[in-house]
Amino acid sequence: MKVAVITGASRGIGRACAERLAADGYAVVINYSHSERQALDVLNSVLDNRGTGMLCRADVADSKAVQGMMRKVISTYGQIDVLVNNAGIVRDEYLFMLNGETLDRCMDINVKGYFYCAQQAALKMFRKKSGVIINMSSVSSQTAIAGQSVYSATKGAVNSMTRTMAKELAPYGIRVNAVAPGFIETEMMNSIPAEKRGEYLNAIPMGRFGTAEDVANAVSMLCGDSCAYMTGQTLVLDGGLSL
Ligand code: NAP
Repeated sequence: MKVAVITGASRGIGRACAERLAADGYAVVINYSHSERQALDVLNSVLDNRGTGMLCRADVADSKAVQGMMRKVISTYGQIDVLVNNAGIVRDEYLFMLNGETLDRCMDINVKGYFYCAQQAALKMFRKKSGVIINMSSVSSQTAIAGQSVYSATKGAVNSMTRTMAKELAPYGIRVNAVAPGFIETEMMNSIPAEKRGEYLNAIPMGRFGTAEDVANAVSMLCGDSCAYMTGQTLVLDGGLSL
């Protein structure tokens, strides 16, 4: 059975990816850092739908914890076929208000965390000469949203690392792509004030926010053989927001 590790899978987009990949037949590793009860809900949902999986607590910003997580996956399942680098945080702050702690935490989770997980997963995939890495980016990497200079910088880094990792890993049968969602209805959007929500909604040509399942469908497609010749790309999924 193929194995997919999904970081930040205790809710939102990560949860939808775990449920979708479990339905696709993968054993899913549900990573989280704090939300144990929510992560357990995800595992129960996977098991209720005849899937299989395990929980793995690790702060992706902690390289030792990531190594421990990947070791645990290998000792349980013996392989890693898919990594969805999804765990991420958003901390909207205008440049004049920016504090160093926010900057460090965003960089640590949204950038360094992706490197730690990709490196460890690629080392395991390398032995099999096959694997897929999906990096969760954001439309903020391409479309300027006031207050998101740090977040957008981290997601721009995700797009760039995706291209370079793809080039480095292609000779070993490992594909690396990114998905860049627009506004997706998850807890992450709760911090947006009501008037701003209306403004953002009006800017989406398709007239609705995306769902976590919309993103999970794209991730499932990128993992599959129909995308076997695609690597280094960032797939924008935003209802037309960036057009
Ligand atoms: P969310 O609902 O806030 O969920 C975030 C997930 O990440 C949670 O499972 C959380 O688990 C986990 N997480 C946070 N920090 C972590 C860490 N240090 N180590 C391990 N897990 C950690 O967010 P979401 O909306 O699903 O977003 C998921 C990804 O999509 C992020 O990379 C985000 O930037 C991207 N994205 C979201 C949107 C959107 O509109 N929602 C748009 C574009 C891109 P714990 O609570 O256990 O820490």
